[in-house]
Amino acid sequence: MTVFNERRYCIDDALSRRGFLGSAGLAFAALALPQRLQAESSANERTADKRTVRPFKRYSDLLETVKKRGYKPRVLGYAPDKSPIVGIKAGGDKLPAIFISAGSHSTEQAGVAAAVELIDKLETEHQVYVIPCRDPIGLNGYMYALSLSLGEEPKIESMEQMERLLRDKGEVLLDADGKLLVLIGEYGYANRGLYRKVEKGAKFLEPLKGRRLWFPSRYEDVPGSGLFERAYTQVVTPDSEVLHINRFHDTSWAPVEIRCTRGLMADIKPGLTFDLHEYGGDAFWFSARRQRTDEDEIWERRMAAEAARAVKASGAKVAPDDYSPGSFFSKLERGVFWLDPSQRGEGLNLADFAASKYGGAFTVETGMRQPFEHRVRTSMLTVQTAVRVFEERYR
Ligand SMILES: [Zn+2]
Repeated sequence: MTVFNERRYCIDDALSRRGFLGSAGLAFAALALPQRLQAESSANERTADKRTVRPFKRYSDLLETVKKRGYKPRVLGYAPDKSPIVGIKAGGDKLPAIFISAGSHSTEQAGVAAAVELIDKLETEHQVYVIPCRDPIGLNGYMYALSLSLGEEPKIESMEQMERLLRDKGEVLLDADGKLLVLIGEYGYANRGLYRKVEKGAKFLEPLKGRRLWFPSRYEDVPGSGLFERAYTQVVTPDSEVLHINRFHDTSWAPVEIRCTRGLMADIKPGLTFDLHEYGGDAFWFSARRQRTDEDEIWERRMAAEAARAVKASGAKVAPDDYSPGSFFSKLERGVFWLDPSQRGEGLNLADFAASKYGGAFTVETGMRQPFEHRVRTSMLTVQTAVRVFEERYR
């Protein structure tokens, strides 16, 4: 059993209690009635499983879709480009609440689409809160990220052109071993991911301390995450470590996206949390978290077992018996792993944080080499099945 150090779940109380986040719960409560009326009025738009689910091209498309379906997103805060980071309330009135989030890694768009679909496809009496995209800039793509420093989106069609532009417009911080990193304005721009690829404390990272950097998506066989379609956000910590947006949940220094998420969580105290991700393979797996009490852990195991069973029964390809996502995972059953953040290091991600403070938590990983819609359905099925078990607990 993982024993968490108390210090590790200290959250920034000043922000969550006094700031805009403190009022989020009240705002949600006030919204409940009109929101449902709006939702009913647009019931036709939401006819069951007929709609085709595609990756969102831009964050504004996501916001538009949510509004068209009759939901009023609540602004939790603003990303550095002033994009609103939103939460949407769905489900019923029953507690404990369920929290669903996605999009901290911008190349993993089936998770984002699934989170949006679940807003009205997750049938439960429990309150449901969804932050469908934790990284609006990343979703908008690499040219968009570049526009934040250049003033406009450059027209670039190849990696070569892009690298030329970075060298031309930026202050070169690193240009070695195929890795290019430049500083333009407030932000870093790289040609590839630097997470775990550069040394913590490296001198060339100093100008980027506390800032973010982006590198472009470049999958050739993953529609929606092709060349430049997404900007993958990485963050250079104050002690010069390159991390990403699904970290920092237990640190007082944290980018705004994380502060929005944990502020909402402080308000709703979710009994069950899902973070919808993807990975570069073609099979499905997900990770569970050790719980604070035996009772919670029994239910975590039950939810995990039922969700795994449902996904297998759906015919989806599940990770093979001998698959391991990494050294800090231990197998619970085929396709399901415990994740131990104390072995991984780098602090707590969203699901780690949820488990350390609130209750049940899962990180879902669909395989990006499967068709998009199939990944969305598998992600949704995992959540829907676990929620049914969660409901049994509170019946
Ligand atoms: Zn991810």
